[in-house]
Amino acid sequence: MKLNERGLLVVISGPSGVGKGTIRKALFKIPDNNFCYSVSMTTRKPRQGEVDGVDYFFVSREEFEERIKNNGFLEYAEFVGEYYGTPMDYIEKQMDKGKEVIIEIEVQGALQVRERLPEAVFIFIVPPSKKSLLDRLKIRGTEEASKIQERINKAEREFGLAYKYDYIVVNDQVENAADRIYAIIRAEHAKTERSIHKY
Ligand code: 5GP
Repeated sequence: MKLNERGLLVVISGPSGVGKGTIRKALFKIPDNNFCYSVSMTTRKPRQGEVDGVDYFFVSREEFEERIKNNGFLEYAEFVGEYYGTPMDYIEKQMDKGKEVIIEIEVQGALQVRERLPEAVFIFIVPPSKKSLLDRLKIRGTEEASKIQERINKAEREFGLAYKYDYIVVNDQVENAADRIYAIIRAEHAKTERSIHKY
């Protein structure tokens, strides 16, 4: 298979509460896209309205640790006491089919992918201001108070790692952020090293 026929792996990352999930959903609404979403696995309990196999594969710690032993993850991380990971098999298959695979993960996991698949495209989402992120985490109301503080502390540390990514996208408005990501994906396909093989 020629290089240019393979889809891209697009890693959308950034601090918790920055709006990664909402941007990802907006990205999938762009007409005629060729994206597919890699559903992550987690040991966290489902929030109200979340559906197993759609939002996450919700599994037990034992199941998760079994998969770690069997090298079944592209990456995984422990985030605020729960495991989150990207199953390996699905991603490879979809990229080989020419699909753009979108993964939405936190920072430690993204940096593991950077080591394993440096050709992936790494996008760090930032809020318009740090304060807006902290306010959002506080009012989101989906977590207990102690977990909110942990998420805030973690977000503060993660801002310092933005320089390790290829692109920074400001989430000023969800549709704008999704459009910028779409533009990045198109530009990546036009990069010489990816498209020279066509000629
Ligand atoms: P939440 O509990 O809010 O759904 O997710 C917590 C954090 O874990 C978010 O930053 C989310 O992007 C991240 N996350 C979701 N799936 C994965 C995954 O497969 N791997 C890693 N490393 N992080 C993930």
